[in-house]
Amino acid sequence: MQTYDVLIAGGGFHGLAAAYCLAKSGVRTLLLEARGIGSGTSGACAGRAQACEGHLDELNIALVRDGLKAHETLQEELDFDYEWRKVGLLLLLREEGMVRLWSERSSVLTASGIPTGIIDVQSLRKAEPNLRTDGLLGAVACTEGTLNPLKFSLALARAAARYGAQIRRDSPVTGLEVQGRRVTAVKTAAETYSAGVVAVMTGSWVNEITRMAGVELPIQNSHAEAFITEPIPPRIYHNIGVADSYETIYGKSHAVAFGIVPEPDGSLYVSEAVASTGDLHDRSTAWGLAAMARAAAGFYPFLRDVRAVRTWARPTSIAPDEEPLVGWVPQLENLFVSTSLLETISAIPVLAGWMAMMIQGQAPPRPLDRYAPGRFFPGIPQGAGR
Ligand SMILES: Cc1cc2nc3c(=O)[nH]c(=O)nc-3n(C[C@H](O)[C@H](O)[C@H](O)COP(=O)(O)OP(=O)(O)OC[C@H]3O[C@@H](n4cnc5c(N)ncnc54)[C@H](O)[C@@H]3O)c2cc1C
Repeated sequence: MQTYDVLIAGGGFHGLAAAYCLAKSGVRTLLLEARGIGSGTSGACAGRAQACEGHLDELNIALVRDGLKAHETLQEELDFDYEWRKVGLLLLLREEGMVRLWSERSSVLTASGIPTGIIDVQSLRKAEPNLRTDGLLGAVACTEGTLNPLKFSLALARAAARYGAQIRRDSPVTGLEVQGRRVTAVKTAAETYSAGVVAVMTGSWVNEITRMAGVELPIQNSHAEAFITEPIPPRIYHNIGVADSYETIYGKSHAVAFGIVPEPDGSLYVSEAVASTGDLHDRSTAWGLAAMARAAAGFYPFLRDVRAVRTWARPTSIAPDEEPLVGWVPQLENLFVSTSLLETISAIPVLAGWMAMMIQGQAPPRPLDRYAPGRFFPGIPQGAGR
């Protein structure tokens, strides 16, 4: 049986960034990915390092603010061009209530080091001359980051491997062996491994693995679709979204949380048609493509003449309280999970370092109790980790 200090399941942003930080600290790390690097939700996402749309608690703000700062040097550190760039974000305001809400949010964010403001319709027209502004009241404006999510995944994987992490693709975890309160073996079709810590970072598929050890986490999944257009000359100059995206999708079986990211090659990444379903699949639908195209052409009428070239979909996990799940599973001593971050790309550079510290038995600079899986299992005393 091959033995490692830490075995990570899942080759998305969580697993890869954790593998990088662990390997960099000299920890013997193995990462098992069921398919390819970034082939889950990470490689399919819009690549936005969001700045202003998350929870306003101190912990989340620190992760996002400091994570965005860390991204400024991470690309160089990983020695791989993953198309990191800073870009203006405009969240379109279409209701008075949202203007009030975002005025308050902007004050908190700005005071916390994430400068955010509201611009009026005239300024919005200047910033985005091809946008149809009928019915709009202005926009939330801030600066965020953007990257190529597949290249970011590969950058993390290669840098982790350079520090000695073993990364095995096409290696789905198929079984866990548990003795007492410890996971003692991890199985794939071909091999059996043992590790001091088993870290499950399989995104929407977390329960498919923790369940093998008798642990069911209370995560739900939504299903989101996106499409990419053919390249066109620049006519959209910012990342665009709607300020009420959360309110638009909340409690609906199907809804579009409209967003556009202009890509460096001139194509436009258009998202997100969201369906609430427990079914974990990557199929896109005729409804999703049509609904996103309608929303996009409603805001930018010239898009009626632009072709969509590819559409896809992935699930995203979310906890019932909409907080991340990061930490030790209380039922076992050496099972760590990380999933359901809301602003994954922004937070992951900092969070991964903190997770690596926790996995090595150290305290992170800020306690992550708020994210502990144990909050959903109040009867079980919190495990001490390793
Ligand atoms: C359309 C869309 C747009 C998005 N846009 C953004 C954005 O702009 N910015 C942002 O921050 N977030 C965005 N998100 C959310 C973001 O993509 C996710 O939060 C993030 O990718 C989750 O990363 P992860 O590592 O937890 O999961 P994943 O990337 O899904 O990784 C989990 C991995 O585990 C693997 N796996 C599954 N089962 C097993 C097994 N048995 N054994 C081994 N491996 C297994 C999977 O193949 C997968 O590769 C978006 C999501 C969607 C759907």
